[in-house]
Amino acid sequence: MVLKPYDAIVVGARCAGSPTAMLLARMGYNVLAVDKATFPSDTVSTHLIHPPGMAALQRWGLSELVAGTGSPAIDTYAFDLGPFTIAGSPGAADAPVAYAPRRTVLDKILVDAAADAGVEIREGFTVEDVVVDDGRVTGIRGHAKGGKSVTENARVVVGADGRHSTVARAVNPEQYNEKPQLEASYYSYWSGLPMNGRFEAYNRGDRAFAAWPTSGDLTLIVGGWPFAQFEANRVDIEGNFFRMLDLVPDFAGRVRDATREERFVGAAVPNFFRKPFGPGWALVGDAGYNKDFITAQGISDAFRDAELCAGAIDASLSGARPFDDAMSEYHTTRDEHVLPMYEFTCEFAKLEPPPPEQQQVMGAVYGNQEAMDGFARVFAGVTSPAEFYSEENIGRIFAAAQGRQAS
Ligand SMILES: Cc1cc2nc3c(=O)[nH]c(=O)nc-3n(C[C@H](O)[C@H](O)[C@H](O)COP(=O)(O)OP(=O)(O)OC[C@H]3O[C@@H](n4cnc5c(N)ncnc54)[C@H](O)[C@@H]3O)c2cc1C
Repeated sequence: MVLKPYDAIVVGARCAGSPTAMLLARMGYNVLAVDKATFPSDTVSTHLIHPPGMAALQRWGLSELVAGTGSPAIDTYAFDLGPFTIAGSPGAADAPVAYAPRRTVLDKILVDAAADAGVEIREGFTVEDVVVDDGRVTGIRGHAKGGKSVTENARVVVGADGRHSTVARAVNPEQYNEKPQLEASYYSYWSGLPMNGRFEAYNRGDRAFAAWPTSGDLTLIVGGWPFAQFEANRVDIEGNFFRMLDLVPDFAGRVRDATREERFVGAAVPNFFRKPFGPGWALVGDAGYNKDFITAQGISDAFRDAELCAGAIDASLSGARPFDDAMSEYHTTRDEHVLPMYEFTCEFAKLEPPPPEQQQVMGAVYGNQEAMDGFARVFAGVTSPAEFYSEENIGRIFAAAQGRQAS
């Protein structure tokens, strides 16, 4: 008996992989998703889902499940820049708030939703390599825990296996817009630190830190320093972390009254884009595009890519469009959408004092609620930095500030 290949095999079953697999299965395709993890499973992430990520979950019928897990809604983003605080609403009408459920919670919901859609899920399955036939990826080779190596075939193999992607390593795609690690951050979880639905961020010199509420009545605090200080500071992470919080005595006092419940976890990541397709393969999520986590875009980006990528794969598998044609639209759409935020994120991640023009813009934004909402929405990935920093919008913000001064 000759076994029919899968329509798609998705390697990695978290924010990028499970939604890609789920969406393809909902379109009627025969999909296998594998992950070396077994769920629920934690991973290194501060798991803030900005409103665009929540909007994607809503489109998929999963937002209520996520919102119902006990992680509080976050309706205000407050950026304390020292002299003043810019506080605004991060959402749009269709998705007004953010949430930050633990990855043990979120990723399990995503894997279960894929399984419910009919995806065959193999947890605890490690992919060793892709199978290539005449220059085209035709499947994967991998093993279950303690098991023998097996091969599975598919019309397309999707690498949703994160920034150290095995699929990307095997297909060796063009990598571009690369920037090295720019900052190193550490995070942990505190009880007894109420946030009242607020995301609070603090910038002081070359330090930036932020806090927001998450699952289990805990508050996550993340903060860091330029990557150049990574080696020197890693010898005393807790001491350096608290010296950073002490730059804002009120906040440090709140934290000292609270209880740290978990160990510190840290990371510093490189920034890059990879061409996300080639003969028989595609990349989605961090496997195809990775950036510093300082603006917390990765989950929402992975969700958006999953929709774009699944749509392009459908167009190709159904015969509506040639594979290269459909996938190159996915590639271009992804890059055009994320490039302004990528540059904004990388600039911020340098943790250098903002240039004088930026300080002037922030000074004019302060006190103008519409502009403060606008800035919060840039950080939330709702509004493109290109739109917010356009000559027209900045002109409007300065004109309003002059009007306020004159009155
Ligand atoms: C410190 C830190 C904080 C962050 N904070 C935020 C935040 O607050 N908000 C936000 O939106 N984003 C954040 N991010 C980014 C976000 O976590 C990622 O963008 C997101 O997890 C990407 O999802 P993914 O599915 O592409 O990859 P991943 O979440 O990395 O999942 C990849 C999966 O592939 C599996 N896998 C890998 N190799 C194999 C293999 N060979 N065989 C089988 N399975 C394999 C892994 O087990 C894993 O489960 C943060 C990242 C870091 C490092």
